[in-house]
Amino acid sequence: MSMPVATYKCSACDFSRWDSMTWGYRYYVYGIVKVQMRVTIGWCQPCSDLVAIEVLPIAKREAELHQQLAALRIELDKELSASPLRRRWWQLRATNSSTQARLEREIKSADESLAEYRLRRAALSTRTSQARCLLCSSEDCAPLPPHEVEYFNIEAAPVPTGFMHPGCEGELVTVCEGTRLSLLLTEKAYDLEGRQLIDH
Ligand SMILES: [Zn+2]
Ligand SMILES: [Zn+2]
Repeated sequence: MSMPVATYKCSACDFSRWDSMTWGYRYYVYGIVKVQMRVTIGWCQPCSDLVAIEVLPIAKREAELHQQLAALRIELDKELSASPLRRRWWQLRATNSSTQARLEREIKSADESLAEYRLRRAALSTRTSQARCLLCSSEDCAPLPPHEVEYFNIEAAPVPTGFMHPGCEGELVTVCEGTRLSLLLTEKAYDLEGRQLIDH
C-alpha cells in the first residue's frame, strides 16, 4: 500500500523533505494501556531540520471536542423530533434515514475522539516537559504555523507555510509532486515525558 506525500521545500535554497516523518503509530505507555501520541511536523533547533514533533493535549481543545459532540447530539434530537407527518413517506425515507444515519455516525466518531483525547490528557496530567522532537528528544522545537497541504493536485501552486527557514533567507513551502511512498507500519513506545522506550 502506498500513500501520497507532500514535499516541503525552501523558496531560497535546495532544502527538501517529505512529510512522511510523521507516519507510524506512536504511543505512550500508561500503566498497561497504550495511549496514542499525536504528532505534527515542526522545526527542531538542535536537529536543524523538519521533524515529527509531539502534540500535547490541552484543555481548550478538549472543550472544543466536547462542544462539537454536544452540537451533534442537539442536531440529532431535532432530526428525531421533526414531525414525520409533514413529509410524504418517500421524502421521509430519502431524507430522514440518511440524515439520521449520518448524524449517528458523526456522533459515534466524535464520542470516540473525545474519549481518546480525555485519556491522553489524563495520561499526561503529571507531565513536566514540553512537547519533544521525536528524533532527538529535545524540547527546543516548535510546530510549523497552521498551513494547507495539497496531496493530489500536482498542478497546484506551492503553498507558503509562514515559516522562514532558519539561517536562510527563504520561506518553507509545501509542494505536491505526485510522490507516493510505500507505507511502513512502524510502532514506537514512549514514556509519559515523551522519551522513547527502546525495549518495547
Ligand atoms: Zn533555505
Ligand atoms: Zn531534534
